[in-house]
Amino acid sequence: MKPAPNSYKSTCCYCGVGCGVVVTKESNGQLSLEGDKEHPSNKGMLCSKGMNLHYTVMDQSDRLLYPQVRLNRSMPLQRATWDEALERTAAVFKTLIKKFGPDSVAFYVSGQCLTEEYYLVNKLIKGFIGSNNIDTNSRLCMSSAVVGYKLSLGEDSVPVCYDDIEAADVMYVTGANPAWCHPIIWRRVEAHKTANPDTKIICVDPRVTDTARSADLHLQIRPGTDIVLNNAIGRLLIENDYLDERFITDHTDGFELFRLQVMQRTLAEAADICGVPSADIALAAEWIGRSKGFLSFWTMGLNQSVIGVNKNLSLINLHLITGKIGRPGNGPFSLTGQPNAMGGRETGGLANILPGHREVVNAAHREEMEQFWNTPVRIADKPGLTATEMFEALADDKLKAIWIINTNPLVSMPDMNAVESALKKSRFIVVQDVSNRADTVHFADVVLPAAAWLEKDGSMTNAERRITYLPKVLDAPGEALPDSEILWRFAQKMGFEEAFNYKTTSEVYDEYVKVTKGTNIDVTGVSHQLLKEKRSVQWPLAAIGGRQSAVGSQKKPRQIDNATNGEVSTSHGTKRLFTDHQFYTKNKRAQIHPVPDENTSEPTDHQFPLVLTNGRIRDQWHTMTKTGRVAKLNKHIPQPFLQIHPEDAKERGILEGSLVTVSSRRGEVRVKAQITTDVRKGLCFLPMHWGKILGSNLVRANNLTSPLVDPKSKEPDFKFSAVQVALYQKP
Ligand code: SF4
Repeated sequence: MKPAPNSYKSTCCYCGVGCGVVVTKESNGQLSLEGDKEHPSNKGMLCSKGMNLHYTVMDQSDRLLYPQVRLNRSMPLQRATWDEALERTAAVFKTLIKKFGPDSVAFYVSGQCLTEEYYLVNKLIKGFIGSNNIDTNSRLCMSSAVVGYKLSLGEDSVPVCYDDIEAADVMYVTGANPAWCHPIIWRRVEAHKTANPDTKIICVDPRVTDTARSADLHLQIRPGTDIVLNNAIGRLLIENDYLDERFITDHTDGFELFRLQVMQRTLAEAADICGVPSADIALAAEWIGRSKGFLSFWTMGLNQSVIGVNKNLSLINLHLITGKIGRPGNGPFSLTGQPNAMGGRETGGLANILPGHREVVNAAHREEMEQFWNTPVRIADKPGLTATEMFEALADDKLKAIWIINTNPLVSMPDMNAVESALKKSRFIVVQDVSNRADTVHFADVVLPAAAWLEKDGSMTNAERRITYLPKVLDAPGEALPDSEILWRFAQKMGFEEAFNYKTTSEVYDEYVKVTKGTNIDVTGVSHQLLKEKRSVQWPLAAIGGRQSAVGSQKKPRQIDNATNGEVSTSHGTKRLFTDHQFYTKNKRAQIHPVPDENTSEPTDHQFPLVLTNGRIRDQWHTMTKTGRVAKLNKHIPQPFLQIHPEDAKERGILEGSLVTVSSRRGEVRVKAQITTDVRKGLCFLPMHWGKILGSNLVRANNLTSPLVDPKSKEPDFKFSAVQVALYQKP
């Protein structure tokens, strides 16, 4: 059904669920908003954040309205024209590149950026500046899942879709709290459970969350023991004859080594390490083994870990040994934290990849992109700096300039005091953002005001590979410009007029679509116009079953057998991957990876005896630059807090509401204590949202967090830092 003339269909720009919304411009000039009943992801439902999304653009009190520049940090920022700001930035970039080489500059972007914006910034730095120094805050949340998929299934490809929820009878939710963080997915899970009471929900989490409370089985493991648990379940699936031998033989490699690995620990040992009853692990294994539809969900509890990739692999292994993948209701499902984290990866938005899921270390892939872009330089053959590496390189003066787009690293990066010190030391910072709520704005040499959601157009891809178009509904305030336009104008100032001679984001999208031809994420034929007509499509749209050789290769689209698995409406793309059990690996077989189960996070000791984990609360999102502007959302939990177990609190003389100092090897936080058995003894929890702008330096959870990263994904170990807690002031 067409929306009313003053109504516009768009997509929620918070989390990766990607709910459809209908925004209406009322006659009094105000906006109203409701869930899009026709959108297949949310079917009209919205969570508290989504319902209040329009307030984030109606309140313009803290918007950045015009470009600002300063010649040195002792001066205040001064208003400038767009030409002045972009010419100043281009001059600095050119000087640095000439003197120190292309790797002296970097872009740090965001999973909130639209696909077109991601594509442009990648094209600019990788194809025209000649550096792979672009990374995104998605590095902080999804990169372990990306590597896990790549190693096991052959490519960064989520195999399932939301409709698998209604086809599953066992949901294994691990390291995730979708009841608060992906609420619309959770509502679908709960509705399915209500209609089918035999459906089993297993929650694995060291904390008692709302998700854990509504699960049939809560495995409240010790932090960092996820692999021990998954391997123990793997062993039980073997011992109790729940394997799909035929699938293992015909479609996987690595089972024998996996079997040897998981047999190294008895169930009793595993239960002891995890701190949960053996019988509960056995029950989880039995439910998974007997299930017809085994769907696993995970987010940061697995990904944000120094062993994040191995945690992912240990989970995906359970699907591969039981053959529970590529069929309705079965498969691993990484839930995306940001609205366009997946779209960013499609366009090459990580330091190690190129558009179309190509890789910078692959000479053929580089050559394809060099030809396609007609680049004036060779694409660098090594990955660029990842998120944490960028700030380390700034501190060491190896990186001279950083351009930060729509993200707030001064709250979201680990080991915050080191990041703040790096920003202070750095030579040149450009911040492109919507409002001055982003703490990082105050460190900038150049501030570029960006258009917000509804003030620009473009596309995004949600967690089930669903691409939607977001229309421009409102004019941006002041002189703020769409991020795409800022980027192509800058590229022109850098001297790349011809390659960046765009007039519309549709042109950018059309160019990106050509890059996907013949790849596993082929969206040939998709355009902004088509997305407006169809509302959404799921990639791949045309070709499935393995990459062809080059951009523009002619691959015959293969239609999936609708009658067999019900996966497709070809005109709307592909609901489910690997229905033919042909994976994206070179030999088309999924790879079972035996993984060691030791956690290599920083150790606790007598000085820092407790483990800190951090995370989100229900009504806030990331660093509160958007949700923090909505009064209704701030009412839910107005202040940061530390959850601590009653026995740990008693040992320290801490009462409910006491002000406590939390310290780690890197810094301190001071917040009120919340004494609760929702955390295990020895574990504390602190929400990650608050920054200096909204409080003081002493409310930043990331003052405490560990700088360790997973060696393969480079994702930080946010969920395990050794801390001490001391009473500061009684209530
Ligand atoms: Fe927006 Fe996510 Fe809530 Fe959906 S679940 S309304 S995408 S925040």
